[in-house]
Amino acid sequence: MPRLVMKFGGTSVADLDRIRNAAMKVRREVERGFDVAVVVSAMAGKTNELVGWVDRTAQFYDAREYDAVVASGENVTAGLMALTLQEMGVPARSWQGWQVPMLTNSSHGAARIMEIDTTRLVQKFGEGLHAVIAGFQGVSPEGRITTLGRGGSDTSAVAFAAALEAERCDIYTDVDGVYTTDPRITKKARKLAKISYEEMLELASLGAKVLQTRSVELAMRYKVRLQVLSSFDDLPGTLVCDEEEVLESRVVSGIAHSRDEAKLTVLGVPDRPGIAAAIFGPLASGGVNVDMIVQNIGADGRTDMTFSCPVDEVPRAVKALEETRDAGEVKYVRLDIDENVSKVSIVGIGMRSQAGVAHRMFEALAADGVNIKVITTSEIKVSVLIDRKYLELAVQALHDAFGLDKAS
Ligand code: ADP
Ligand code: ASP
Ligand code: MG
Repeated sequence: MPRLVMKFGGTSVADLDRIRNAAMKVRREVERGFDVAVVVSAMAGKTNELVGWVDRTAQFYDAREYDAVVASGENVTAGLMALTLQEMGVPARSWQGWQVPMLTNSSHGAARIMEIDTTRLVQKFGEGLHAVIAGFQGVSPEGRITTLGRGGSDTSAVAFAAALEAERCDIYTDVDGVYTTDPRITKKARKLAKISYEEMLELASLGAKVLQTRSVELAMRYKVRLQVLSSFDDLPGTLVCDEEEVLESRVVSGIAHSRDEAKLTVLGVPDRPGIAAAIFGPLASGGVNVDMIVQNIGADGRTDMTFSCPVDEVPRAVKALEETRDAGEVKYVRLDIDENVSKVSIVGIGMRSQAGVAHRMFEALAADGVNIKVITTSEIKVSVLIDRKYLELAVQALHDAFGLDKAS
């Protein structure tokens, strides 16, 4: 029988009525003849609540226990979904990550999937039993529960789709597809019928949380046909697929943003070989995800190193930098911190062959009086760091400037 993976995010399983609504979509696919693996998230808000409990219990917590706590939200929805399906006459059972098993490495809180043993799942499909899998969680080689990072149920879904050689991986969420930008920021955002893996990968990694970055990486690597669609209506969604399949061609396909960023500048560090490694090594070991980096060498031969990271990682960054300074490894004069910045990025494969895209972006921002603090580019994206109060304005200005509200 052909196989299908159907993933339901937090808002799609937020209460018993919504679980029922999702289960009806599952039943429809079962009736079409699929063996279905349903991957579920925790109920909306549940994971945040669990994370909050951990934070309030221990500031610098044991990540293994963090995972033991935050993985539990998915256990509840997996069981409830299996029960709901049974009530509807669809034979199903729930699977927690360790029961499958889905083996990950031991990077608690951001674990990577190493192997999914589908033997037992497939055997149960053979007995007519559909699977409901708790997303976001796996088991480490040490036998401890792990989680895949926030939004990780998307990655579970794609990984199961690859492992089960599913015909498709359908991601049901609270929007009916991938839009030119977050529809919560501008009403002018337009749904894309198709988007390439590469562009989706950039958008996701630059903050468009509709799909977790890793899920797109896996889909691209294993050629999983990935579809994003609404769990609340029956509209066609967005297909994430190979570049060649995308008919629309435009310079910029989408705009992503990441609201809660911080900019840190380490001022007055000696300009010598190894200094960047001496700064960024401890930050990495301290669990800080450094994003943009700019180095400036002043006339006095000293260096200012500016970098950005998520705002909630600032305490860890400060701790790592202060420890490095106190150990005499990096002597800096001052540390400046700006916790009120956001990142806005334009993404498009058309940029590869078009000059002047960055210039158009900077002009559009300047026309609205938005000051740019840091810039980074890659082949298919340009990102800028700006004051958070201009975030919505900047996204809207860029959306207009690149004509994203109009179908091409
Ligand atoms: P789920 O709980 O189903 O995993 P998420 O909240 O993680 O859902 O992701 C869906 C949200 O992603 C949408 O509500 C939307 O606000 C946001 N989003 C950000 N960028 C985009 C985009 N380009 N297209 C669609 N949704 C986007
Ligand atoms: N429940 C987890 C989270 O909120 C995983 C997910 O929803 O994808 O991050
Ligand atoms: Mg999500």
